[in-house]
Amino acid sequence: MKRRVNPRSTSPGPSARAREPREASAAEFHAEAHEAECGVPLAPARIARLVVRRGLGQGSPAPSRPSRAEAEAAVRTLLAWAGEDPTREGLVETPARVARAYEELFAGYAMDPEAILAKTFHEVEGYDEMVTVRDIRLESHCEHHMVPFIGWAHVAYLPRQRVVGLSKIARVVEAFAKRFQVQERLTVQIADAIDRVLAPRGVAVIVEAEHFCMTTRGIRKPGALTVTSRMLGAFRDDASTRREFLAMIGQRSSR
Ligand SMILES: [Zn+2]
Repeated sequence: MKRRVNPRSTSPGPSARAREPREASAAEFHAEAHEAECGVPLAPARIARLVVRRGLGQGSPAPSRPSRAEAEAAVRTLLAWAGEDPTREGLVETPARVARAYEELFAGYAMDPEAILAKTFHEVEGYDEMVTVRDIRLESHCEHHMVPFIGWAHVAYLPRQRVVGLSKIARVVEAFAKRFQVQERLTVQIADAIDRVLAPRGVAVIVEAEHFCMTTRGIRKPGALTVTSRMLGAFRDDASTRREFLAMIGQRSSR
């Protein structure tokens, strides 16, 4: 077994210096890191798959999903790397449990948020006032550390012709949250999906969340909330509309 080498602590060899680092694609970089880490070069076919996955972007299912057995093996590897003995009694079933938990925590990849919103009601009886759904519980995972960030989403829109069932708004939040995310992108995705499907006069989304990567490790700031917002249409252009929304979500009970 080759010794584990931290690629960052290794000074660049002559071949690395000869190449311009910026010209390497992310997939090549990944392959190089894999080789440095494991001492095994990544097969060209796997590199090609990484390129394809990058091209598909977030939200699309990966074309070559690893098997459940591969996922469980990866969990055993992480347990061993953390210093555990994955064969001890208490841990034998853990990889299977983690895989099942992942199916639940990352169920969003199998959900289509725009399809969720597509069933709209047209006969709104002239209702054109703001629809606000606030304090939607949100549980997501930071894509940088794979640890949870937990908080609330507040969503409002000004219907033009279509309204949607209120539970659908919460399901859209869930569909985007149950993925690996950054809070900023999550906020934008929720707002843009509502904007595209309902074509309202405006959409507002505010997400406030506590990031475990900040509160339980790293700089350790328990209770610190990250707040992100996306304002579209009237919420962006009209200060009084924006104020009305902020007043509505500001009236929430203390938590
Ligand atoms: Zn993080």
